[in-house]
Amino acid sequence: MVFDIKNKIALITGGAAGIGLAYTRELLRNGAKAVTIADVDASKGEKSAKDLNAEFGGNKVIFVQTDVTKADQLEAAFKTAINTWKGLDIVINNAGIMNDANWELQIAINCNHVVRGSLLAIQYMGKNHGGKGGVVVNIASILGLQELAGCPVYVGTKHFVVGLDRSFGTPFFHNLTGIQFLTMCPGVTDTPLISEAGRFALQGMGNIAKELVEGLGSLPEQAPEDVAKGMITLITKGENGSVWVAEGGEPIYEVKIP
Ligand code: NAD
Repeated sequence: MVFDIKNKIALITGGAAGIGLAYTRELLRNGAKAVTIADVDASKGEKSAKDLNAEFGGNKVIFVQTDVTKADQLEAAFKTAINTWKGLDIVINNAGIMNDANWELQIAINCNHVVRGSLLAIQYMGKNHGGKGGVVVNIASILGLQELAGCPVYVGTKHFVVGLDRSFGTPFFHNLTGIQFLTMCPGVTDTPLISEAGRFALQGMGNIAKELVEGLGSLPEQAPEDVAKGMITLITKGENGSVWVAEGGEPIYEVKIP
């Protein structure tokens, strides 16, 4: 299945920084018509939207301040996107944190928001709701497919996303909704999320954070821009129900979900 990004309208959560910002830029570089960034951080979000509009010459990006743990705010971002751009084709549920010390918030962001964002995508884009269908990309992690001593709850949240998409990615859901569900599993990427993990360790949050940083230290690091390129490859070449593991700019392997 090939999905042409040209002139498509996207919404991305957590798009103000890190992988989400790189992904937004890559969508525009590949001809997307417009992107709505839904992020809790107003100063980063407004700056990123302004910079991207300057870079891509026009009014292509809006920022909607959104705390994805609040159902009404997430739905409001979908409505603003659809009203502003008159459509929606791609939803990327990307916002996430890595902080086992605040595991309830971590579950609310990494799991609950991904469920809600997927259900809203079905509600607003699904053929079963009168829509045209489209693509949903849920951002998991390589840690959705393997263990890492030191952050069991983070690892659990990412396994949850992979598990969720195993069902959303089945032919049953695809036929019903016309939406292609894909999971992205980036490897360790150089973003504030990773430096935050280091900050917790420095603040003396105990062995958990120390083990986490030591565990991450043994894994390769990649630039968010390269991860985003891999994700575009994923959208354009991915098959329904696949989980992709990206490293160094390309999905390095595809896990087919039966
Ligand atoms: P990041 O910290 O650089 O960016 C995360 C963005 O999410 C920020 O702009 C932040 O403001 C936003 N955000 C946080 N809480 C929010 C909330 N409640 N509502 C709305 N927005 C919120 O992180 P990143 O590394 O770019 O991570 C993006 C995604 O990629 C996450 O789901 C993360 O788990 C996943 N991931 C990251 C790595 C990595 O090594 N960095 C590896 C695999 C997967």
